[in-house]
Formats: sequence, C-alpha cells, structure tokens
Amino acid sequence: MLDDHPLLIPKPLSIDLIRKAHHPEHCAYLSRQTPDPIIQLDPDTWFSPHSMRAAHLAAGAVWDGVLDIIEERCKRVFCAVRPPGHHAEINSAMGFCLLNSVAISAINSLDLERIDRVAILDFDVHHGNGTVDICKDRPEILVCSSFQHPWYPNRLYDLNRPNIVNTPLRSGTQGDEFRKEIERTWFPAIEKHRPNLVFISAGFDAHQQDPLSEISLTEDDFYWITSEIARLSEQYSDGRVVSVLEGGYDLESLGNSCIAHLKALL
Ligand SMILES: [Zn+2]
Repeated sequence: MLDDHPLLIPKPLSIDLIRKAHHPEHCAYLSRQTPDPIIQLDPDTWFSPHSMRAAHLAAGAVWDGVLDIIEERCKRVFCAVRPPGHHAEINSAMGFCLLNSVAISAINSLDLERIDRVAILDFDVHHGNGTVDICKDRPEILVCSSFQHPWYPNRLYDLNRPNIVNTPLRSGTQGDEFRKEIERTWFPAIEKHRPNLVFISAGFDAHQQDPLSEISLTEDDFYWITSEIARLSEQYSDGRVVSVLEGGYDLESLGNSCIAHLKALL
C-alpha cells in the first residue's frame, strides 16, 4: 500500500515554533528536568533522558507534514508519532503528552500564505483538553473533539466557545451512535468554518479492544470517519489533511485501525 508513498524521517521542531503554542515556562520546565534514568511528571506521564527528543521529533514530523503539503509535494500526511500530544496544555504536560504537536502546527500554519482557517478534528477516546486550552481563544482554529464522558482527563470538556465543539459519548457507545453524533455535531461546524487546512488527532483508543476505554468502535468506524473528513477536505481545503497519531494501546487493533485510516486517507 505504501509503495508509492514514501516514509520520511522528521526533523526536531525549533523552540521558536513551539513557543507560539506553549508558555515559555512550559518549555523551561521541560528543559529543567533531569531524569536519571526516568521520572514521573504526573501519575501517567513518564520522562526519560530521550523523551524530549522524541517529543521534538513528533512535533517536527507534523510541521514537516504541513510544509510537504503547502509546498505541494503531497496532499495528505500521516504522522506515526509518539508521544501523543493532545493532552498537553499551554503550560502543562499530562496524560503521556509533553508537547501538543497538532496545536503547535495548527497555530504556526496560520502564518503561511493562503492558510487562514484550520480545523483540528480529534476522535481519540479522551477529550483533547490540551488542544482546546491552546486554541480556545483563536477563532481561526475550529476544534472538534469526541470523547468518552465522564472519563480522563475531565478538564475543559464543557468550555463554551464558538470555535470549540465538544462531543461527549456515553460509556458503551457503539459505531452507529458515534457516527450519528459526529454527523450531528461536527459536520455543520466544519461546513460553517470552511477550513483551508485540516488536521486530525487520530486516536484509536476508542476501539472495542482497547484497554483504556469503554467505547466500542471498530476499524470500519475509523475508516468511515476518515473518509468523511477526506470528503469534507476535498470540499474546503483542496483535499489537504495532516493526520497525527494520538492514543491507541491495544497494539493489534492499533495497527489494524491505522491501516483502515491510511486506506481512507489514500
Ligand atoms: Zn486517548
């Protein structure tokens, strides 16, 4: 499947671009850490001597993907990165996340020619609290997040802003209900916002096999939502989509879900 679609090695993201999204104190806090050999920043977030480099490379991959698209080397990119980023708030690391890769690139992409409205579409089973925190006062960025509720992280899920669409899902939600809620809450917002670049926070931990959730999606549901996003992107952003891996903790279903996602992106 990937024969005609090269795998690229990213460059670490520069601190200047990171600071457009994160507070300078957040960058200083992370650089002050001296793990030997590993420390915990919070109950979920472990930090090793290699974590910062991994986070810079993950954020760099997303920005490289934006430039590849804007400079017309390709139309769609999937960033198979870890650590994830969507829980990292303006001034805090949490939930496995150090830097909010997708929010950093979304904000910086607004400085590029021809990009003045972007969307971040987050179907991870956990609410994208960090993305909401960073983008809440930036009307050029539409953030749509679907998530199990109540569930981790229980922050900012009820924030009321015209550019934030929160889509809570009850425990036990299956594909049909998920699709109806996405159609009802996301599609009208995307159609109204008309983004000229679309980001996906692609978390696959709402899969029925995943140990970190009580939502029962399947590979078909991930294929469906990706196809719908691709269809909307053809309408508004000339097909341009930057997709970024977030959660997904059952390795077999994560792999199969990524394949379904890639097939729909292609
Ligand atoms: Zn998650």
